[in-house]
Amino acid sequence: MIPGPIEFESEVMQCMAVPTPSHVSPDFIDTFANSLKLMKEVWQCPSGQAFIVAGTGTLAMDMAAANLIETGDKALVISTGYFGLRFAEILKRYGAEVDILEAPVGDIVSLELIDQQLKSKSYKLLTFTHVDTSTAVLNDAKSIGALGKKYKVLTVLDGVCSVAGEEIKQEDWGLDIVLTASQKAVGVPPGLALLVASPNAIQAFEQRTSPVGNYYGDWTNWLPIMKAYENRQASYFGTPAVNLVIALEKSLQLIVKEGLDNRFDRHKRAGKAMRAAIKALGLELLSKNEQVSANTLSAPLYPSQMDASSFLKGVNQEGVILAGGLLPKLKNNYFRIGHMGSVNKSDLLATVGAIESALKNNGYSDELGLGTVQILKHF
Ligand SMILES: *Cc1c(COP(=O)(O)O)cnc(C)c1O
Repeated sequence: MIPGPIEFESEVMQCMAVPTPSHVSPDFIDTFANSLKLMKEVWQCPSGQAFIVAGTGTLAMDMAAANLIETGDKALVISTGYFGLRFAEILKRYGAEVDILEAPVGDIVSLELIDQQLKSKSYKLLTFTHVDTSTAVLNDAKSIGALGKKYKVLTVLDGVCSVAGEEIKQEDWGLDIVLTASQKAVGVPPGLALLVASPNAIQAFEQRTSPVGNYYGDWTNWLPIMKAYENRQASYFGTPAVNLVIALEKSLQLIVKEGLDNRFDRHKRAGKAMRAAIKALGLELLSKNEQVSANTLSAPLYPSQMDASSFLKGVNQEGVILAGGLLPKLKNNYFRIGHMGSVNKSDLLATVGAIESALKNNGYSDELGLGTVQILKHF
């Protein structure tokens, strides 16, 4: 139950074991084409250009920056934690002049502040993290997309912890790039950088006057490959992660089969139930209120005086794996529970049960069942 790599569906895992076909075999070309098409469906961006490239979520961030930024461009980073600051570093590497609006820990930057900042300076691009995996804080992607449109700024959504878990309507919400990695809510083992670019973003890329300063991530190399696969033709730039792409097609099919609205609703119920359970156990959450809380993971604070490592070890002994804190300055004050992808009621009950046992064994509480009843009530 960590926030990625998540637990994968067995049908997806089976794809990892099929004999690896050639990347230019007719069946694989179909699989690649279908995956690109399914991504646009899941991202809800029918006019977008999908990219599937071997790498991690950080490569998807790197590609967005490398292809859209030229030296001296102004970029605004709206940061809700660890991954916002990472994006600032990446943008600077390509020569951007970066301003950062940083939210207080556990909160978001208000829309008023973002509006003011965009009004005060002419930015080429803004980035924000939909769910910051370090804080379990959820940004209002629809409203930030609308602000980007209002000020004609390219909007880049880091959706690594949200795509296929939290609702995203890339095209309706005016988001120019929505990127993710395979191992989180998309539900495929680690190794794929996934990104959908709007026509606006592709146009901005085409209007560059300087070459992209990253050879592997350069869309000049990848765009013809994606288009070739879409047209069911063989093409090569770098060997695709063949089995991962086969697994991706399968997982996207399962996502579409569940129905996007059903899937988002299931994540909402999981998030609500987990937060209710944590509060019922007397623990506090890092995210400030329900409105800014992510549904794909939760970040509870340890009770004061609790030994973090013996608590996590205790949970582990009950058969559940949780993640420690990620924000450097609060690392030892909180832990993280992922609840995305295939997560079901049994997973949630087992997790909360394990937390209850570990709390009891660490002398924090005597009573069992206070949290699990909340899962039964809310999920
Ligand atoms: C995990 C994550 C990343 C980084 O993805 P990697 O696959 O680890 O490179 C970036 N942003 C967010 C929000 C994440 O959750």
